[in-house]
Amino acid sequence: MKTLHLTTSREDIAKAAKIIHDGGLVAFPTETVYGLGANTFDEDAVAKVYEAKGRPSDNPMIVHVARASDIGQFTRMLSPDIVALIENFWPGPLTLVVKKKPGVPDRTTGGLDTVAVRMPDSKPALDLINAACCPIAAPSANLSGSPSPTRAKDVIADMEGRIDAIISGDDCRVGIESTVVDMTGDVPTILRPGIITAEALEAAIGKKVKYDESLKEESKHVQLDPAAGVSESDFQPKSPGMKYKHYAPKADMIVIEGERSRVKAEIERLKKLNESIGNNVGVLLFEEQAFIEAAHDFFAKLRDLDAQGVDLILAGALSDTDGVGFAVMNRMLKSAGYNIARV
Ligand code: AMP
Ligand code: MG
Repeated sequence: MKTLHLTTSREDIAKAAKIIHDGGLVAFPTETVYGLGANTFDEDAVAKVYEAKGRPSDNPMIVHVARASDIGQFTRMLSPDIVALIENFWPGPLTLVVKKKPGVPDRTTGGLDTVAVRMPDSKPALDLINAACCPIAAPSANLSGSPSPTRAKDVIADMEGRIDAIISGDDCRVGIESTVVDMTGDVPTILRPGIITAEALEAAIGKKVKYDESLKEESKHVQLDPAAGVSESDFQPKSPGMKYKHYAPKADMIVIEGERSRVKAEIERLKKLNESIGNNVGVLLFEEQAFIEAAHDFFAKLRDLDAQGVDLILAGALSDTDGVGFAVMNRMLKSAGYNIARV
């Protein structure tokens, strides 16, 4: 398939909108990461998104709307908490999982009786949805399992020849995917952390929100004893789902966790050891407490290290139990396949 390369100009957005309208696939920038969009209500188009990404069909997509009121196309129930979150955070990097109304295609929601909806805070994304005259179902525009794309060149690397068009815009402002909150239970539950934190959500609705159990479990894994060397067979994930590759660079990756000076020293030690056996080693260490910057740069840095052909990435863990750093750590641990060395 020949992929059309478009800009964010009015004429190009109109071309892209026609492609979506006619059942095609278009990658487009949002403030979080680039999305791979199809007409939400066109089941065949949505099926093609799974195919282009190589994504398992039981992993649902986020529906992107251009007006908050368009959530009415997906659900019949707006609770006071949902309204408060929309008023506080839309447009923005917050996805709300709500009870699905009849008529929302199963393909889009992976057969669930809920649907995930978000209004992006990005002019090209909103222009595209408006011009296409339909909500756009879109997961991230990367091959399934790879780091998410935050720059047009990352989308081109993964999707050239697999989709109808790519809109090249600015680098994504946020850099990690939206916070996903399940609003269908008694207590709002964070399914995926993002830059909108639990604390910010709680301030908006005036009550506790919780994290899904699996998120806190992830951070407890201690898999590798650095002194004993690095062996992937040492790794025994606690839940089978954690074996599923996500955000993984081509290089192998270890996350080093602990007090900052010890982390730095351990990275140096492991770097030397690995270089001595001929490995090309890349280091990913963010400034202390610079969580927003880490979110912005994380996926781009993984892709840059892959482009440099490194064999092993040594990443310093961010110490943050609830906020933006925690959201970055959620990605970092998955990227590393839960290879964690604690020092
Ligand atoms: P991606 O854009 O590739 O990050 O994928 C969208 C994310 O939203 C995935 O993590 C999905 O599991 C999640 N998601 C989409 N719809 C639902 C839903 N109805 N319930 C729970 N999670 C959802
Ligand atoms: Mg994704």
